[in-house]
Amino acid sequence: MSELAQKREADRSKMSVSDHIAVQITNMNKWYGAFHVLRDINLTVNEGERIVIAGPSGSGKSTLIRCINRLEEHQQGDIIVDGTELTSDLKNIDKIRSEVGMCFQHFNLFPHLSILENCTLAPIWVRKTPKKEAEEIAMHFLEKVKIPEQADKFPGQLSGGQQQRVAIARSLCMKPRIMLFDEPTSALDPEMIKEVLDTMIELAEEGMTMLCVTHEMGFARQVANRVIFMDQGQIVEQNEPEEFFNNPKSDRTKLFLSQIL
Ligand code: ADP
Ligand code: MG
Repeated sequence: MSELAQKREADRSKMSVSDHIAVQITNMNKWYGAFHVLRDINLTVNEGERIVIAGPSGSGKSTLIRCINRLEEHQQGDIIVDGTELTSDLKNIDKIRSEVGMCFQHFNLFPHLSILENCTLAPIWVRKTPKKEAEEIAMHFLEKVKIPEQADKFPGQLSGGQQQRVAIARSLCMKPRIMLFDEPTSALDPEMIKEVLDTMIELAEEGMTMLCVTHEMGFARQVANRVIFMDQGQIVEQNEPEEFFNNPKSDRTKLFLSQIL
């Protein structure tokens, strides 16, 4: 193992994974109309795992993570999040949504609300947190993502990287147990990618369970304990990062890696 690989391994092993299952997906299938978009997905994610989901465009990565907080509905199989099964039962959906935070490529901040208001909206209306307390929590997380001074501005006044960090802070205000990221840096200028990745790395180091769809393979190598490769709606291969990158098993993975690395 190279020195760099050894250092990564040492850093990663400091981030602990528990026995508790955060997400369990069993024989899951999903169709969009007649199109079979997810095929026989089986995936168990333990608390504290940092999973990177990679794969070509259209392979079903977004659909898969959107199923985990029921932004998309699956038709077959089971998805159990922190002990609660995702069915059409609205009570379960609400419970799971309150435990699962999500950050998207295009931030999805409310443009007409200030940064602080973006961060306090859900805690006040969904969690019924008193306004003053919600604001204190929001400032705590805005400090954590290193932009407390932007609290009174509006999203349009911030850079893309800052807006994405607000989106992360906003999710954290709901005290999620799991965070889903869908290409959080893909819409950012190169110089802003690092500041968002650094925020995500810090979250990982604090033990957050994370599923990240990303093309940032440096991030995958540094932070992930497992890389999952999807193609045509299936999980084709998964492995710990060094093995995944250095010794891919399937031809589809090899082809993908040859195109992106
Ligand atoms: P990825 O995130 O890996 O690029 P997606 O999960 O977005 O893949 O999409 C997987 C496939 O499902 C693609 O072929 C896409 O065109 C299709 N798809 C995505 N969303 C919808 C939808 N709402 N209705 C119909 N087809 C969709
Ligand atoms: Mg996608």
